[in-house]
Amino acid sequence: MGMRLHNTLTRKVEAFAPMDGRTVRMYVCGPTVYDEPHIGHARSAYIFDVLRRYFQYKGFTVNFVRNVTDVDDKIIHKARETGESPEAVAKRCLARYHETMDRLGIGRPTREPLATGHIDEMINCISQLVVNGSAYETKTGDVYFAVRKFPGYGKLSNRSIDELQAGARVEPGEHPVHSEALGGAGKQDPLDFALWKAAKPDEPAWKSPWGKGRPGWHIECSAMSTKYLGDEFDIHGGGVDLVFPHHENEIAQAQAAGKKFARCWIHNGLLTVNGEKMSKSLGNFITVDKALEECENDPDHLKLFFLLSHYRSPVDYNPFALKTASGMMRRIDFFLLHAAETPTLSEQEIARNLLRDHKEQIDKEIQNFNKAMDSDLNTPMALAAIFEIIGYTNQVTISLPKAENQAALFRYSAERIKQLVQQVFGMSGNIKLGLEDKIKREVDVLVQKREGARRGGDYKKADQIRNELLSRGIVIEDTPRGPKLRKQQSIASDTTIEQP
Ligand SMILES: [Zn+2]
Repeated sequence: MGMRLHNTLTRKVEAFAPMDGRTVRMYVCGPTVYDEPHIGHARSAYIFDVLRRYFQYKGFTVNFVRNVTDVDDKIIHKARETGESPEAVAKRCLARYHETMDRLGIGRPTREPLATGHIDEMINCISQLVVNGSAYETKTGDVYFAVRKFPGYGKLSNRSIDELQAGARVEPGEHPVHSEALGGAGKQDPLDFALWKAAKPDEPAWKSPWGKGRPGWHIECSAMSTKYLGDEFDIHGGGVDLVFPHHENEIAQAQAAGKKFARCWIHNGLLTVNGEKMSKSLGNFITVDKALEECENDPDHLKLFFLLSHYRSPVDYNPFALKTASGMMRRIDFFLLHAAETPTLSEQEIARNLLRDHKEQIDKEIQNFNKAMDSDLNTPMALAAIFEIIGYTNQVTISLPKAENQAALFRYSAERIKQLVQQVFGMSGNIKLGLEDKIKREVDVLVQKREGARRGGDYKKADQIRNELLSRGIVIEDTPRGPKLRKQQSIASDTTIEQP
């Protein structure tokens, strides 16, 4: 089966194939760099990284362009707050964005154009729109896009001009419509949006045919996407909050200039924190660094948390959800660790010792993984297939009398899982140096907690911890010399874990 993706433009899940059959050309709206990266940024960046990775896993090449908005009101406001120049704010915050996404192991795009590096391209687009009558210049040196002149306006967000008219308002800082003071020289229609803003004192400004000023936000994406991906390209993505007005306006600008523009529009759902919108004023702003602290500084836990929801669904970030994800990630880590401890077998030995039923069962789950990802990137279902492999392998191995058969099944399953989590989900998937130490450390913390509970007479808590260890395949025995650990007998050997 081929891949199917939800297209916001048609509101349907449709078959997807790149226009040229080989290279997926994809543009995603990137960050406005004025603050510390938060988990909403991480979610969006990760979703499109997984999409790119899955295309590559399927054998496509991906030309992935993601812009950086480095001139914007928010950046200018921030600069006033901190006393830096807007350029300095943008530069510093972009460096933090890169550092953070690198730390998460989220791949950088093929190209990452800066808005300030493409002012000429934007001026060219705007000029074209003014010449063909789709945009107009005001006496104050602003240029607006005339929304009513573009017949398809509203098609992405599925709104009619009348609906939009009812909700239209004058944005703060814009010249009011038909303002008396300006002699009617401002915006001609409340629906129109700025392509070029006349310079204000102490703001970054560039020369243009309409005087000094700076571009509106929407035009940068139309100009940069078509510059790097062509007048028509495969995918345009971003957060669902960008559908209107940003993406609607991008379509209007590009198509009014005679470009076909993006064929498939992909939008990710938004993220809330403990059921509320994340905002500085609510005091629930979760930076990526903070989220990582909450999951043992292992980016894989955070990635698994994101994967547990479909990309189009809203996600709520809360301690319980993160803990669930951490527990599941540990299950994968433990499985790979167990597998690594089985005797090493060559490919031929695995093939010889893997029972046919087992191979078929694992391969079926791999197919389920692919099917899930093919159907609009259903990561929760794809994860379920991975956990099916783990559950099946653990369960079946116990009943296998021959160590070679056990090892072959473990190795085969582990190799498949590693490939999927590394290639498609961008997780480490390795028995990293120190992973064993990390697990030992976690186990040690649990053992100490249990000892504390036991000494304090809290036997209920002590039993809970015993069960938690048991769920990780570790049996704890109390001896006169203190607690002793051993692995539950599930694989060939019954190893005693050395305590740190
Ligand atoms: Zn954009």
